[in-house]
Amino acid sequence: SSPFAGLHHQPGDALLSLIASYAADPRSDKMDLGVGIYRDEQGNTPVLQSVKLAEQQLMQEQGTKSYLGAEGNKAYVALLGDLVFGPDMGGRPFHAALQTPGGTGALCMGAELIVRGSPGRSIWLGEPTWPNHAPIFQKAGVPIERYDYYDVAGMTVRYDALLQAMECAQPGDIFLLHGCCHNPTGADLSPAQWQEIAGIMGARGLVPFVDLAYQGLGDGLEEDAAGVRAFLNAVPQAIVAVSCSKNFGLYRERTGALYVIADAADEAARCLENLISLSRVFWSMPPDHGAAVVAAILADPSLTALWQTELADMRQRLNGLRAQLAATHPALAPLASQRGMFATLPLSPEAVGSLRERFGVYMPLSGRINIAGLRAETVSHFAELILPLLS
Ligand code: PLP
Repeated sequence: SSPFAGLHHQPGDALLSLIASYAADPRSDKMDLGVGIYRDEQGNTPVLQSVKLAEQQLMQEQGTKSYLGAEGNKAYVALLGDLVFGPDMGGRPFHAALQTPGGTGALCMGAELIVRGSPGRSIWLGEPTWPNHAPIFQKAGVPIERYDYYDVAGMTVRYDALLQAMECAQPGDIFLLHGCCHNPTGADLSPAQWQEIAGIMGARGLVPFVDLAYQGLGDGLEEDAAGVRAFLNAVPQAIVAVSCSKNFGLYRERTGALYVIADAADEAARCLENLISLSRVFWSMPPDHGAAVVAAILADPSLTALWQTELADMRQRLNGLRAQLAATHPALAPLASQRGMFATLPLSPEAVGSLRERFGVYMPLSGRINIAGLRAETVSHFAELILPLLS
């Protein structure tokens, strides 16, 4: 019999079918708020100028295509580590780190490391969270617990529910937290809440697993790292998955890294040895290009300055659109204090369907919108369309 006889059909990706129906829609004033990539005012996702310059430099200088080694580009991992944790890994000398294919690869490696290091330990995921989180941990075999993260109607973080989950959790349990620019809600913890959570996790023996996929797109590079850094003085072990897909616009180049903070040299060494043996099985060696670009940018002060300007442009565009949308009506006011590319609006699936059919406004049924899909001149029209439908 066929080796594939046991395969069942898998549900299609809802976002991909949304993209297809958007493309097929003939209306000229249609709006795509579905896809999760940054767009400029013209609706494009161009290659950053700093990336282009770094690529030219690499074209000139690259002398070999031989393998990078299982840890990947070590200069990239170190420079990105400075960006995330501050100089010298924020004062945590014992750590393990490796380059991964995107933030997704980092999350997968983190999940596999947990299963090897402490099988049966649970990871707590907020509800809602990035839709790929649960499948990644489930596939690796990490038991999943859930807590309510967001009050959709009130458009605020359910901080009380997070605190309660931390009280219920077993010591050693892991909490997945979005470092900044929460996807899909845009609602982040405040610096004071990060500090409090870090203290509780330290006291209760809980382990933070921070997913940092939007550093620099919220309030700034340093500000957006405050959540991760709150843990540095508070817990013995932490896991941090980093993506350069959004902040460097390197989506298809699959550029990420995993950092594991340990509390002793031997623990850090065992983490690294295991990460290397895992990555050897998964992809043997990571891809070169994206990490080489990021390393070239971060190693060169003028390229770094150019990248930071381009990043600030993206951030200011997102925050400007947010502020504009929030100002249209008190019901949307909470959007002003949220950050990043996404917001989850209190729209029922029926309301989302009717926006699509009647007005050509495309978003997933959850009511998540990509802020970057708006334009300064479409914001008030969009607000007029959704206000009567908010629940
Ligand atoms: N984590 C979050 C919260 C994300 O939104 C994304 C991308 O959308 C990722 C991780 C992974 O991104 P990538 O694997 O493309 O680097």
